[in-house]
Amino acid sequence: MNIILLGPPGAGKGTQARKLVDERNMVQLSTGDMLREARRNGTEMGKKAGEIMDRGDLVPDEVVIGIIREQLENDNAGGGYIFDGFPRTLAQADALGRLLLDMGENLDAVIEMQVDDDVLVDRITARATCKDCGEVYNDNTKPIPADGKCTNCGSTKIERRPDDNEDSLRTRLMAYYKQTSPLVGYYYAKDDLKSVNGLASMDDVAASIAKVLG
Ligand code: ADP
Ligand code: ZN
Repeated sequence: MNIILLGPPGAGKGTQARKLVDERNMVQLSTGDMLREARRNGTEMGKKAGEIMDRGDLVPDEVVIGIIREQLENDNAGGGYIFDGFPRTLAQADALGRLLLDMGENLDAVIEMQVDDDVLVDRITARATCKDCGEVYNDNTKPIPADGKCTNCGSTKIERRPDDNEDSLRTRLMAYYKQTSPLVGYYYAKDDLKSVNGLASMDDVAASIAKVLG
């Protein structure tokens, strides 16, 4: 099964993707994580992408389509793929459709995580992530442990993302509405769209997704 998680920054795509990986043996493909990794590795592409990401703008289509293509060619996901943060533009959506077709694979569902804009700002400015395992913390709902150690992996590298500030977030939200939200109509027209309420608790959102996936 191959699925896309669609929704604005802070909708909870990464959190739900991690649950699906644990529970269904799926492979998470997060273009955001891949770009951050390229940046840490100091590649030319990573450096350029890093500047764009800090502003909150979208990295060019060719770049992200290229990194997704590479992953799909190299990986073998028995349980299927979860596309998290990709596609983000119509051109990326078309490219993904072609890549899956070439592999003889289908897209089984596009899960739109619906949230209110005003909670996004709160969620993102309160967010911190474990650099080693990706566990997500939130100052209000799941604070970083007092000893600073990740509850999942014990790492002390729990950090805030440079783009998780109010200015970049406004730009990211604008990019979402201008460039990504047309995908809701695109996948609705293809009859692939399933919407879930992303404002519910983490477990309730996971339950709605499980119901949709059957
Ligand atoms: P969030 O969903 O919280 O905004 P991500 O980790 O998915 O976070 O993305 C962070 C940044 O990485 C985006 O703001 C953008 O600059 C870049 N990025 C990630 N995925 C894509 C993509 N598919 N197309 C273009 N840019 C992307
Ligand atoms: Zn961790």
